[in-house]
Parts: sequence; C-alpha cells; structure tokens
Amino acid sequence: MNMKNCQNCGSPLKGRIDKKYCDDTCRSTFHHRKAPEQANLMRQIHYILLKNRKILAKFFQIQNSQPTIEKRSLLEMGFHFGYHTQTIKEESNSTQFACYDYAYQELNENQILLFKIPDSH
Ligand SMILES: [Zn+2]
Repeated sequence: MNMKNCQNCGSPLKGRIDKKYCDDTCRSTFHHRKAPEQANLMRQIHYILLKNRKILAKFFQIQNSQPTIEKRSLLEMGFHFGYHTQTIKEESNSTQFACYDYAYQELNENQILLFKIPDSH
C-alpha cells in the first residue's frame, strides 16, 4: 500500500502510483498557483538588479574624479554581489561586472573600481 496525497488539495490519492492530483481540475489549479510565485521571484531579482545599479550610479556620481570605493561601502548600502546583467572580460584578465549601464571591478579584497559603460548607440 502506497498512500499519497493530491499536491493541490491534499486528498488521499487512489489508483496509479505516479498520480499526483485527484483530477485535471486539481492539476490545473496547482499549476496556475505556481505562476504568481515565479513572477514574484523575477520581480525580486529585477528589484535587486535595479537597486545594485542605483547604488553604483550614486557612488559613481559622488566619486566622479576617483571612482575607487571600499567594498564595504557597497555592502552597507545593500549591494548584492553576484547579481549582475553581464560580465565583461578584459584583456588584463580582470572581470568587470555590469548592472545595466554601470559596472564594477574588484581591484583587491577591499577595493572596487566603478565604471560607466559607454553608450553604444
Ligand atoms: Zn485534489
């Protein structure tokens, strides 16, 4: 005996072992319920990227003449390392991480160099 429950409504399932739902109604309800969760996740990631860009832009404007900043300063502003829109590999072997039109590069453990990506249009 292998008693499982419907993934949508939790009712005990009878019949085939690989059954996951009571019927097609429960199946489609379950799948439609997942869509908002995925949209929510995408919104969160989009929000993080926009926030990263905003932080980079802010520091870039403040530090215009010398766009080298402490990594700690970015973290304090709520910057999320690891979220970027593209990576740019330089010949010098250093990788620049872009959040839309702003990018950064790690100079060392503590210091970050900021860039504004030139408009390609
Ligand atoms: Zn069900």
